[in-house]
Amino acid sequence: MVGARDPELVRPPFDRQGRSFRTLRLSLTPVCNFACRYCDPESSPGKEPVPITRRPADFYLRLVERLLEVTPLHTVRLTGGEPTLYAQLASLVAGLAALGLSRICLTTNGFLLESQLEALKAAGLTDLNVSVDAIEPAVFERVTGRGGLDRVLGAIDRARGLALPLKINATIMRGLNDCQVLPVFEQFAAAGIEVRFLELMKMGPLQTNHEQFFFSEAEILARICERFTVRRLERQPSATATLFETGDGRRFGIIANHSAPFCSDCDRLRLDHEGRLFGCLSSAIGYTVPDDKHALIATLKGALEEKQPQRFTGSALSMRSIGG
Ligand code: SAM
Ligand code: SF4
Repeated sequence: MVGARDPELVRPPFDRQGRSFRTLRLSLTPVCNFACRYCDPESSPGKEPVPITRRPADFYLRLVERLLEVTPLHTVRLTGGEPTLYAQLASLVAGLAALGLSRICLTTNGFLLESQLEALKAAGLTDLNVSVDAIEPAVFERVTGRGGLDRVLGAIDRARGLALPLKINATIMRGLNDCQVLPVFEQFAAAGIEVRFLELMKMGPLQTNHEQFFFSEAEILARICERFTVRRLERQPSATATLFETGDGRRFGIIANHSAPFCSDCDRLRLDHEGRLFGCLSSAIGYTVPDDKHALIATLKGALEEKQPQRFTGSALSMRSIGG
């Protein structure tokens, strides 16, 4: 259970900027059934990959348990690749809930989600982020390399029916889906669902042409302001998204890695599908999790040192491999 920390180790590792790890992003597989233009345009989706069991749920649970002994983690976000391809997802969620974590979240493309929702909710999933980059089917297919918007929307309806708290992620690329900013916002806002627009990050396939496709926070806001008045809300500490509210009370967020970087109070730690720790998205080095608590603290300190001081500058890794 959370709280069973060694009294000698009550002060968790902090870096020079006072940052420590409180939220964990656990990437369950680098495999995906989509081929999003900003993440993995070279893969060939269509054939459904077989469910993945390379590492059993117990493997990840033991690692999280060890981390909980020395860090004040309160949230685990399950991601990938596509986490709904991981065969033991519901058992893993149940195990994480039993460890006492206050939030267990899932980020998914939603294509395989609907049939898993009931089991995930029963296991203790607390909230969901579903990626929907376009509401027009042809644009959705152009971004994701695969059709299936109707299936994703069906899963979203089912999640609402189960009263699972839900947000939408929409990553915007100039010339590809910037025409969808208003339609995505209006469709989901009308249903009372908050959208998080993501500025494109210079990762993986975008190393050479990021500038060409980048669509800024100001440009996203300008699109929303074509139809709504908007006010900026106060940013919460360690939050990735800046929140906004329209004159008629609809909320949305923008995760503006480039325009409004949030590295200075970042509290995120990453664990990849092989159980390697990463202190920052920009780090290419993964650490193994030592058994010994003091060695683990030293490892976490090393991982904290790898965080960017102020802003993310890019990574050759795709989000798919390190976990978005
Ligand atoms: N497959 C799941 C999904 O798409 O939601 C989970 C993994 S995906 C890597 C997590 C999030 O990262 C998605 O919302 C996706 O849009 C976002 N993402 C991936 N590559 C990105 C990039 N280069 N810039 C900004 N967001 C990105
Ligand atoms: Fe797959 Fe998610 Fe990457 Fe799209 S963003 S290719 S759905 S891992």
